[in-house]
Formats: sequence, C-alpha cells, structure tokens
Amino acid sequence: MPATFPGGGSGMSEECDLKADVRCRRCHRALTNPASRAKGYGPICIAKEAKERMDAQELAEAST
Ligand SMILES: [Zn+2]
Repeated sequence: MPATFPGGGSGMSEECDLKADVRCRRCHRALTNPASRAKGYGPICIAKEAKERMDAQELAEAST
C-alpha cells in the first residue's frame, strides 16, 4: 500500500472545503452556496441578521 501523498497540494484545501459540511450558524441547514458558506449563514438568515443589525442600530441611535 503506497503511503506517499503528492506533497504540497494547494488545491487540496479547496477540495476539502467543498466537501466539508458547512452549516448555517443560525438554522443549521447545510449550505451549498459558496457565498453563503463564506459568510456562515444561509441567504434567509443573512437577510434576518442584516435586518436585526439594522434594528439594533436604530435602537442604539434612539437611546442616545
Ligand atoms: Zn440559516
């Protein structure tokens, strides 16, 4: 059994990245969209996060 691997494959990590099961941090659904995977949230949750962030900002501005 050959135990030698081709050393230093820079493309390996990308392949692993695609194979890794990346899930939304919010609803834990599997993410298939590269952009969603990069953010760690699905499109629905990104929209929710953005809205909540805006709401929080408005509250912070109103309280000052
Ligand atoms: Zn989600």
